[in-house]
Amino acid sequence: LDASSENLSNEEHDIERALRPLSFDDFAGQDQVLENLKVFVQAANLRGEALDHTLFHGPPGLGKTTLAHILANELGVGIKVTSGPVLDKPGDLAGLLTNLDERDVLFIDEIHRLSPIVEEYLYSAMEDYKIDIMIETGPNARTVQINLAPFTLIGATTRSGLLTAPMRARFGIQSRLQYYTTELLSTIVTRSAHILNVPIDIDAAIEIAGRSRGTPRIANALLRRVRDFAQIKGNGSIDLNISQFSLKALNVDAHGLDEMDNKILTTLIEKFKGGPVGITTLATAVSENAETIEEVYEPFLIQQGFIMRTPRGREVTELAYKHLGKTRHNNLGG
Ligand code: ADP
Repeated sequence: LDASSENLSNEEHDIERALRPLSFDDFAGQDQVLENLKVFVQAANLRGEALDHTLFHGPPGLGKTTLAHILANELGVGIKVTSGPVLDKPGDLAGLLTNLDERDVLFIDEIHRLSPIVEEYLYSAMEDYKIDIMIETGPNARTVQINLAPFTLIGATTRSGLLTAPMRARFGIQSRLQYYTTELLSTIVTRSAHILNVPIDIDAAIEIAGRSRGTPRIANALLRRVRDFAQIKGNGSIDLNISQFSLKALNVDAHGLDEMDNKILTTLIEKFKGGPVGITTLATAVSENAETIEEVYEPFLIQQGFIMRTPRGREVTELAYKHLGKTRHNNLGG
């Protein structure tokens, strides 16, 4: 199961939307981030000002888009949603910006993928709420400066390392989202099951949660598949048995590791004797970009205790050998 939302069908997008928490109270976890955001929102509401520009970074599926919508709700304002790769001309951005009402939120997903011209265009909008627009063409062409309503830009990125320094500096609020514990994910699974109207046992929720790579989006996706099995192969409600049966049928790894996670571990073990190995060497060996490994895969593998970061590079742990059913050969050939 892919943690990104790009491969979802329309129906699945609708379900994902239905499962999305709408207020701070519905949102589980990320306590530190949430506590701070509550203060900033209250202060902005009290002063009647736009919330400062806010950047969320962290791996896919952890709730960045959800939080952007929650912020708009809690601010009592509208939200317009776009993404870095979609905005390819400054004109596209101008259209969005000039349609914002006072204090509205503009959410830009994958903000690290903005083209440099669009990014530069955004700077004055963010800083002074002003943009230049070109009117007419040919010999009469000229630019005029127009004032925008004070607004909040919320950016989301999985790759904060790719954001330019000037862009990053324009966000007054920056929060990094963390992977969720199994316990938290099990409360999310239970809540989602309730919304989907399917009964679920607590041990089943914990089983699904533990195989979800610390990621609410994956937890919800697994829940929907297990629900299918429960309805077709079971009695409609989700217990531990049907969960284990379904997860096995879905080939979900016992720790919820995905293909690339396993490839990284296997490569470290088979090609590099468990490491240590430098990130660029590792990246080449698994044909993935080094930044993506550092920002998307490695944090989870470290958090789960499969990989260690040492001054000499990445090293797998005993747990990784055990997980892959391999034995560690000592380098001295003993
Ligand atoms: P991101 O933008 O970081 O990729 P999303 O905000 O789209 O992630 O979240 C993916 C799905 O996971 C959402 O549909 C939402 O239902 C669920 N989700 C994310 N965070 C939470 C949370 N803290 N509590 C409950 N559900 C969550």
